[in-house]
Amino acid sequence: MGSFEDQIRKVTPYTPGEQPKTQNVVKLNTNENPYPPAPGVTEALKNTEADTLRLYPDPTASKLVGAIADYYGVKPSRVFVGVGSDDVIAMSFLTFFNSEKPILFPDISYSFYEVWAEAFRVPYHRVPLTESFEIDPADYAADCGGIIFPNPNAPTGVALPAEQVEQIVRENQDTVVIVDEAYIDFGGESVLPLTEKYENLLVVQTFSKSRQMAGMRIGFAIGSEKLIKYLSDMKYSFNSYTMNRPSIEAGAAAVADDAYFKETCAKIIGTREWAKTEFRKRGFSFADSKANFIFVRHGSAAARDLFAKLRERNIFVRYFDQPRIDNYLRVTVGTREQMEALFSALDEILAEDERKE
Ligand SMILES: *Cc1c(COP(=O)(O)O)cnc(C)c1O
Repeated sequence: MGSFEDQIRKVTPYTPGEQPKTQNVVKLNTNENPYPPAPGVTEALKNTEADTLRLYPDPTASKLVGAIADYYGVKPSRVFVGVGSDDVIAMSFLTFFNSEKPILFPDISYSFYEVWAEAFRVPYHRVPLTESFEIDPADYAADCGGIIFPNPNAPTGVALPAEQVEQIVRENQDTVVIVDEAYIDFGGESVLPLTEKYENLLVVQTFSKSRQMAGMRIGFAIGSEKLIKYLSDMKYSFNSYTMNRPSIEAGAAAVADDAYFKETCAKIIGTREWAKTEFRKRGFSFADSKANFIFVRHGSAAARDLFAKLRERNIFVRYFDQPRIDNYLRVTVGTREQMEALFSALDEILAEDERKE
């Protein structure tokens, strides 16, 4: 006789970055934004009466969908919202990746793609990045069941120019191509305008990184009316009320404050560019990042050791024990002060290493 466990759908879950319980840490490990959400978000949350929570939220989240549609200049029927872009992408896997042929994504990329593919039994093939950690569009000109990649890519930070993204979309018009633009607001070139031209293109973005709202869980997709309709049908077959009342209000308030959004993105970009020179001075190298993190390796010190020694000093960065990238650290761009704390810790650690030699 078998065991009931034989019949269970088993998955190996995604491992999120550590969320330390203690205060007083310099947290540069999960690409959160170091600045608070726009002031209007605080107002919107204050004005959400607890009594309204008796009632279900608007299943279409029309206030938030409308705000996003206005901001990006598209019809609301071309916008889908979800509980973080993780929810949006999971729904997209289920909806769009339904072929016997493998879907394609880069070997070094957001590790959740593999987890969803496994969970939904979608066959997949991981396409190696080039030596310099770039996506080569020619590698995606293959008969496949769909394509997904982040742009800029994570954890490398490398951005693919819009013409090359277009090449991938153009050469694969018989499948859905998803471009995960989680980090696009930090300097990459969005292909949102191409959703007018290609019905098979879905662009996914999030409020977690550039809009300071990882804790609220808001993500969205923009695509053709057809794609958004298919995605909505799937969502309504799962859970009609994905977006709760406070999220809808707070999300709309965040979109309303464009000046704050642009100012905070500019600050992160400024700190990132300064941090690049500081890393170089200390013997680190990295592919050029257009995201709110830098993926660095040191000329002599092992990433695993640096990770551990930084952690002892309450500085959290991300280390991936995976082929090709096990000597890299992904460092989120924090405030200038946080980065200064990181660099003085690195100076101490590297000086100790030198004394030991
Ligand atoms: C952070 C991230 C997401 C998910 O973000 P949410 O918080 O779920 O919106 C999706 N894709 C990539 C590449 C990310 O780095």
